[in-house]
Amino acid sequence: MSDTEDGAVNFDPEKFRVSYDDFIRFLDGVSMSMVCPHCGTSGAWNVFTGNADGSDDQVLTTYKMPIAGTNFYRISFAMSCENCGTYRSIYTQRVISWLLDNPPAAEI
Ligand SMILES: [Zn+2]
Repeated sequence: MSDTEDGAVNFDPEKFRVSYDDFIRFLDGVSMSMVCPHCGTSGAWNVFTGNADGSDDQVLTTYKMPIAGTNFYRISFAMSCENCGTYRSIYTQRVISWLLDNPPAAEI
């Protein structure tokens, strides 16, 4: 996953671009429980959108978590329980993989 000769990785959030609507379609498609594991509230989650000032709020925020001692990282989307703030990370590659396997009905 190296982009340069010295192994440095240039992060390009465009490679992990997922729309809010597609993310909701993924959540429904995999039947993810919307019950918060900490407070038991059901269905009240905030999905974080936008990567920078002026960015499109219809695109999910992409988070980059460095892996210590390497130039690698894991990419995730995030949502939080509106009641207690519990933070949930969703592995971006899994979302993208599911979306490729399950195109919108109009594209079938
Ligand atoms: Zn909660």
